[in-house]
Amino acid sequence: MNLRTKLLLAQVPLIAGLIALGVTGRAATTTLGRSSELILKDNYRSVLAAERMKEAIERIDSASLFLVAGRAARAQAQLDDNCRRFEAELAVQEGNITEPGEIESTRRLRERWTAYRGALDRFQSRPAGERADAYFTGLEPLFLGVKGAADEVLSINQDAMVAKSERARRTAHRLDLVMLTATLLVALLGVAASSVVTTRLLRPLGVLGQAVRRLGEGDPEARAVLAGRDEIALLAREFNTMADRLDQYRRSSLGELLQTQQEAQSAIDSLPDPVVILGVGPGDVRNVNQAAESLLRLRVGANGGAAADPAIRDMLERVRDHVARGRGPWAPRSLDEAVRVVLPDGERRLLPRATPLYGEAGEVAGVTVMLEDVTRLHRLDELKNDLVATVAHEFRTPLTSLRMAIHLCVEQVVGPLTAKQEELLHAAREDCERLQAIIDDLLDLSRIQAGRMVLDRRAVEVAALVEAVLEAQRGAAAERNLTLAAEGLAERDAGLVDADAERAQLVLGNLLGNALRYTPAGGRVVVRVEPGEKSVRFLVSDTGPGIAREYHEAIFEKFFRLPGQQGGAGLGLYIVKELVQAHGGQVGVESDAGQGSLFWFTLPRPREAP
Ligand code: ADP
Repeated sequence: MNLRTKLLLAQVPLIAGLIALGVTGRAATTTLGRSSELILKDNYRSVLAAERMKEAIERIDSASLFLVAGRAARAQAQLDDNCRRFEAELAVQEGNITEPGEIESTRRLRERWTAYRGALDRFQSRPAGERADAYFTGLEPLFLGVKGAADEVLSINQDAMVAKSERARRTAHRLDLVMLTATLLVALLGVAASSVVTTRLLRPLGVLGQAVRRLGEGDPEARAVLAGRDEIALLAREFNTMADRLDQYRRSSLGELLQTQQEAQSAIDSLPDPVVILGVGPGDVRNVNQAAESLLRLRVGANGGAAADPAIRDMLERVRDHVARGRGPWAPRSLDEAVRVVLPDGERRLLPRATPLYGEAGEVAGVTVMLEDVTRLHRLDELKNDLVATVAHEFRTPLTSLRMAIHLCVEQVVGPLTAKQEELLHAAREDCERLQAIIDDLLDLSRIQAGRMVLDRRAVEVAALVEAVLEAQRGAAAERNLTLAAEGLAERDAGLVDADAERAQLVLGNLLGNALRYTPAGGRVVVRVEPGEKSVRFLVSDTGPGIAREYHEAIFEKFFRLPGQQGGAGLGLYIVKELVQAHGGQVGVESDAGQGSLFWFTLPRPREAP
């Protein structure tokens, strides 16, 4: 059954009620009509007949008086005419007896009429002179009797008419009440029945609506189960089909997603180096590849990092912190940042490299860390350092005797020199000095690299330290035609620093040497001291070519020289940095191309004696 039929059916109780009401109404009007019809048929005709009979008998009576008066001709016609009319009306009355007592009155009328007719015939046959007597004695009393009987019939019927119309009025009143009650009842029942049916009809819509809502809220199992073949049931079936398709689609895209995930997993598993994907919370390991699992014993989970070596754990936390704070990817600057891990099959060096994973809103949602195995590179580095150390060490002794020999020659201890020879030997001595400086740097480097550097820390006077370095370099400054000045030394609180005096001199000497070396003739080099409460800051500024900002970090790396620069081996600043850091101080540069340079470093104050 379709929805239209059902909706129409829902109106049926109301329509049925209306029909019932119509039938009742019709019955009521019929009843009322019939009662007025009855009055007309039963009584009105009798009333009419009685009136006419009364009139006829009156005319007959007056005709009799005409006969008394001797007007025979006029009287006769009137007599005949009215006798006929009386007869006819009496016959009508006799055929229309409807009321109780009417039959007796009619019979009485008939009897009196018959008696009157007999008396009238006799009266007519009398000679004219006797008629007056006969009228008053015989005929008139009979006439009054007939009239009285006709009046009786009349009043019986008139009374009946009044009674019947009264009854009809009461019936009409009763029917009025019945109709009113029936109308109210039908309206009530009809509305109630229709609303019950309509509610039942609309229930499936509720079921369907609920299923749609549940599906919308993400319940993939939501279906609308409806029996029947109407439009709502069809709609529910369509909805279920749609929900099935959605489910299939969801499952299939889930499958694709799983496949893609497996592919990605096997791709990172195939990498020989450990790869770790971290969440932003501490200890949160989201994913690891096989290498990370087997080499580092890292597990996926909220505290997946706990299983790993403490060095690895610290390194991972450091890298995560850097990336999660939004400082961008983490890239290693040198092999020194590699973390040493001891594994059953030997020692490994792992160099971390991290990139952020972004969430939907662009926030850092995780960190991918790749630990590059740089064990072999590190080994090569070590070999290189060993080689450098050996070579530098082996060069030292021959170089010393070479320097000594040249010195003796230049001083002409072994004999006089020609001007040309002296010039050549001077050049050779300068190159020997440079070679000596490089070898010293290399030896320092190898000591630092081997971790064999032991600081001999004492309380060192700042003023003396700076003086010693200035003293050593004054000659070079004069030679290069540079002004060399010291500032801040007069202040009393220049005081002491806690340092290895020889190493501290080396640091300041290196910076001052660079300033003197790279500043063109006529320039000015200043050494300044800024005493602080916990540390002393040493500054070396020059009016040289300056250093572009992009090299500020790189110049502190080993073997780095600015492009196009001649000079040392690019080790001086590296050694400076390492030595200052070993003292617990800091080092930096402020400069830009063409602006001169300002190098600074700090050394700590000696700790107060307890
Ligand atoms: P080097 O032994 O070659 O001087 P350093 O490590 O001391 O190596 O210095 C690295 C590089 O930094 C130098 O090659 C030079 O280009 C640059 N540099 C160092 N000091 C200065 C300075 N005062 N003015 C300009 N450039 C400098």
